[in-house]
Order: sequence, then structure tokens, then C-alpha cells
Amino acid sequence: KFITFEGTDGAGKTTILNMVLDYLKEEMSDKLVTSREPGGNPIAESIREVILDRKNVDMDKRTEALLYAAARRQNIEQTVKPAIADNKLVICDRYLDSSIAYQGGGREIGEDAINQMNQFATEGFLPDLTIYFNLPVEEGLKRIAKNRAEEEVDRLDVETIDFHNRVHAAYQRLAKANPKRIKSVDATQSIDDVYQNVLEILQPYLNE
Ligand code: C5P
Ligand code: MG
Repeated sequence: KFITFEGTDGAGKTTILNMVLDYLKEEMSDKLVTSREPGGNPIAESIREVILDRKNVDMDKRTEALLYAAARRQNIEQTVKPAIADNKLVICDRYLDSSIAYQGGGREIGEDAINQMNQFATEGFLPDLTIYFNLPVEEGLKRIAKNRAEEEVDRLDVETIDFHNRVHAAYQRLAKANPKRIKSVDATQSIDDVYQNVLEILQPYLNE
């Protein structure tokens, strides 16, 4: 099975993913594969560096969208699909919904245009389950300002509040349009409560 974690910056995806991993490692380390976007394998991580490098602030938005799709292609072909064929559970930090939200909504390329362009990259390959960490934009930005280490700061940290609001609005539309695949979690809760919610949602996929 293929599971993705999605949400705006500061919503806690990576923190919760690490907690889930610590828990699952004991139970099923041999069945679990994790990945992240952009990145997840050496070629895609190299593309990540280009996209997020602060020197590249003037990157054209369609160039950026194509690079995300290229990294995605490499990650699913090289890492995700082989693991699934091997009957593993793959959990990926971000996937296609991130592009629809960030490049489609945030950068205003258009959600349909990004979806179509990504058809070439993904050939329609979608997650079995997506957990969407829903958090008001202001709250996420506050958390980032408080917690993020300087070395984590990237090109996307210079975006306006309007950009982040468009990203959030796009995620809300995606969650509404795909209720079977996308399960929303209220990320304003304490970390422990979010973690419990996530484990409940994951439970049916853990024993397969
Ligand atoms: O999730 P993570 O923090 O690793 O993402 C790195 C940066 O890339 C974030 O600032 C995120 O907002 C941005 N991003 C993006 N478009 C995507 C995926 C991530 O702008 N499709
Ligand atoms: Mg992040």
C-alpha cells in the first residue's frame, strides 16, 4: 500500500511521521518503507536541492513545477513502486497533492494544469490513503518561526501570506473533492492527539 502525508508548512507532517516510524519500526520494520518529496532517492534529492536552493529564488514557476514532477517520477519508479511490488507499506511525506496545492494554487499555475502535467509523470499512480494535516496558515507560520532551525530555512520561506493561503485553500478543495482517499486530521490539537488520530487512521493498513 501507498500512503501519503500532506499539509501546509508547519502542520506537523514530518514530526508525526517520525513518531509513527518509531512506533512501527518495532512492529513491522521489515515491511515499512518511507520516503519524502521532493526527494526520496539520490536523483530526486539532487533535484530537491536545485528547487529549494535560496540562490534560485528567480526560478520560473513552470520550471519549478516540472522539476517537482521529475523528482516525483524518479521516486515512484525507483523507490515506491518496487517497494509496493515487494508487498511493503510505503509512507511518503508529500506527493501529487502538494504540487496541486503549491504550484497549482500557491503559484497560480492552476490546479487542472498541474494535474494534467503530472499525468505524464505519474501515469495516474495515486496513493491508497492520504492523511491531510489541516492547520490554519497563521498557526503553521507561527510554529515554523518558533521551531525551525536555520539550516532548514529554504527558498519557500520567503513566500507571502497570500501564497500560503492559496495553498491551504487548494488543500481544502482537494480534501473535499476526494473524501475516500484523503482523511483530514485537525492539526491544531496537541502533538499526542494528532498522533493518536493518525494511528487510528493508519490501523486498517498496518495488519494487511
Ligand atoms: O515538506 P518539506 O518541508 O520538506 O518541503 C520543503 C519545501 O518545499 C517547503 O517549504 C514546501 O512548502 C515546499 N514545497 C513546494 N511544492 C511542493 C512540495 C514542497 O513548494 N510540491
Ligand atoms: Mg517542512
